[in-house]
Amino acid sequence: MTRFAPSPNGPLHLGHAWSAIVAHQLAKARGGRFLVRIEDIDGARSRPELADEFRADLAWLGLEWDEVPAQSTRLADYERAAATLAASGLLYPCRCTRAEIAAAARAKGPDGAVYPGTCRGAAFAPDETVAWRLDVAEGLRRTGPLEWTDERGGQHVARPELLGDVVLVRKEAETPASYHLAATIDDAADGVTLVTRGMDLFPATHVHRLLQGLLGLPVPTWHHHPLLLDETGTKLAKRRGSPSLADRRHAGEDGRVLADALRAGRLPAGITLGE
Ligand SMILES: [Zn+2]
Repeated sequence: MTRFAPSPNGPLHLGHAWSAIVAHQLAKARGGRFLVRIEDIDGARSRPELADEFRADLAWLGLEWDEVPAQSTRLADYERAAATLAASGLLYPCRCTRAEIAAAARAKGPDGAVYPGTCRGAAFAPDETVAWRLDVAEGLRRTGPLEWTDERGGQHVARPELLGDVVLVRKEAETPASYHLAATIDDAADGVTLVTRGMDLFPATHVHRLLQGLLGLPVPTWHHHPLLLDETGTKLAKRRGSPSLADRRHAGEDGRVLADALRAGRLPAGITLGE
């Protein structure tokens, strides 16, 4: 069972099509199911109306899928998991802004500045708006060493400290769960056995494996696929002006032909595959 989990923050583009096709192929090759999950808890950036466009894009590519509940329907599950971790003393509050963290950080991780632990042990007013961070060192002490397996990259020892004490509960009340918490809980709830996603999310897996250990969740296998890169070697992204799948669909292009080309590794001019 694999999944494709887009966020309705902007239209899908070629990189998303690639990711969906890889996950779909892996499921079909093994007689498994291909799930689609809408990750719609990104606060003001989230545009729920895009989810219907996504469904139209996937159908245009000739894919069939089973849709599982969107993240916005599962906020209570995330809250419960965070409460469990907090009750075990594994979360601590943080008031730092992004700029403060960037200024104070001593290490740069794969995801940007690693949180230097500024608020660990600090005093907080009861009504203060805070984010809640996972105490990664304490978490690993509780679980002991953990391993995880990527189909392409083999076995890895979980090193969540590479990302530091990540935020699990955000300051924003309307979208409290962070990606790390929500995606980990969803994959377990949806019965995903092969987490398929781009290499850009490879480092996050160290944290997700720790969360699985702490929350007693089943441990899937991962498949981090290479990314489509543009002429400058940069990951294709929504904001870089490449035509969206919806643009191509509305222009009358045949999505199945595009999907077949991607499956066969025939990439558009200027686009390459990279890690
Ligand atoms: Zn802080």
